Amino acid sequence: MHDENCIFCKIVQGLIPSSKIYEDGSSLAFLDIAPFTKGHTIVIPKEHYMNMLDFPEKEMTAYFSAVKNVTIKIKEKLGADGINIMQNNFKAAGQVVNHLHFHVIPRWENDRAFPIRVKKLNLTKEELSEILLKINAP
Ligand code: AMP
Ligand code: ZN
Repeated sequence: MHDENCIFCKIVQGLIPSSKIYEDGSSLAFLDIAPFTKGHTIVIPKEHYMNMLDFPEKEMTAYFSAVKNVTIKIKEKLGADGINIMQNNFKAAGQVVNHLHFHVIPRWENDRAFPIRVKKLNLTKEELSEILLKINAP
């Protein structure tokens, strides 16, 4: 199923151009047009799903194997020192394109592209217990 207003569905259908680096029966990967680093790639299922929450389990194996293949390809071909794999769900978490996608981002030692170590919360035991109770509540 495609969504006619979705930019990634348009890429799948060939209605707008993309720099493809990987394709199989159910997944597609192309270079991000506004990359964090050189080689930053977007991997999508060809079918339209909004994000991880509506993605059917039966399609996960094929999709994650595509993400892994892309990761290996980028690491080897670009000689990256490391790879960040990132995935945003909903606007509050930074999702802009509402078609499930993983970002595969090559990193090099000291590339200073973006910090992985960000400010952390210093929670009390009580605060941790409160969160635990909420999450584990029936
Ligand atoms: P997100 O914030 O997780 O929704 O990320 C969406 C990503 O898609 C951003 O990094 C955009 O730069 C990228 N993007 C948007 N439109 C295109 C496009 N036509 N081709 C390639 N990448 C795109
Ligand atoms: Zn779509």
